[in-house]
Amino acid sequence: MTRRGEFELIAEVFRPLAEGDPLAFDLGDDAALVPVPPGNHLVVTTDAMAAGVHFTADTAAVDVGRKLLRVNLSDLAAMGAEPLAYTLTVALPRDLPDEWVEGFAQGLRADQTRYRVHLIGGDTIAAADLVLSMTMLGRVERDSELRRGGAQPGDTLYVSGTIGDAGIGLRATRGELPDLDPDARAFFLDRLLHPSPRLRLGRALVAVASAAIDVSDGLLADLGHLCEQSGVAATIRLDDVPISPHAAELGGDGMDRLSSGEDYELLFTAPTQQRDAIAGVAGRLGIAITAIGAIAEGVGVRVVDADGNAIAVERGGYTHF
Ligand code: ADP
Ligand code: MG
Repeated sequence: MTRRGEFELIAEVFRPLAEGDPLAFDLGDDAALVPVPPGNHLVVTTDAMAAGVHFTADTAAVDVGRKLLRVNLSDLAAMGAEPLAYTLTVALPRDLPDEWVEGFAQGLRADQTRYRVHLIGGDTIAAADLVLSMTMLGRVERDSELRRGGAQPGDTLYVSGTIGDAGIGLRATRGELPDLDPDARAFFLDRLLHPSPRLRLGRALVAVASAAIDVSDGLLADLGHLCEQSGVAATIRLDDVPISPHAAELGGDGMDRLSSGEDYELLFTAPTQQRDAIAGVAGRLGIAITAIGAIAEGVGVRVVDADGNAIAVERGGYTHF
């Protein structure tokens, strides 16, 4: 096992990720500069991942890097923002092999090229546990940001993509689904490890949606957050919640999907007259967008079956404490 020192790590592993952004000064200065176009706000979001909580020893370092970048980008997508740059704080156990950090950086490199962002700074410390914290910076035109608080009674509730795949992937990694065929397993693991931040969708929704949130904790939990911020109630039609063909094959309890997290799809609301505009966005971007319910006056989230009868809601989403 080799172990570089702090400054070797920064110079050899992280500095290459700053190449291409001249205002990162090759990670050689005390801080970086981020120009923000006139008429825009800087958008700031942080997400951290800890070994044993967000990933296990089996998770490849390259996938940890990719996921950390993507979940941060997903928060920008949910604000209707465009990424600018990111910073990274790594707390590394002293016995963590260099190869792990190199693999992690490889994952960052692959996806920062794909999403056109660069690393511009951070901090590197030793700690008892492996913790990786990223701060993503973005921009959005002033007063155009998507917020959780804008949903109005009468709005339609939409979700992008399919719901529940990452949760099935998580169960597969825990050995709970030994009979999955290899194709399905690969699909679910891909959905778990490489979520697609809906950046282009978020940008397109700026002029269309009344409220938005990304689905990280589970559809029910995240819709609960949106409703709370908006001061409204919501009804979900369970049968309309979109699921992938692989998930459909598995069958099972539809309510599970509503509380399974980490899909990183966008959940959003829009006035009914935006229906055609939303269909247009879906077609133009090649992203499935499905109407799954409606917003009403009141509080709380209701789930109904095909006949409109209420289904009891027991499970919440993931919480840390
Ligand atoms: P200081 O002690 O002044 O905070 P550091 O030695 O911690 O400086 O960092 C030196 C430079 O390296 C800074 O530009 C910092 O942003 C960058 N840096 C340190 N760790 C990381 C990291 N994990 N990723 C990216 N940049 C980093
Ligand atoms: Mg420092």
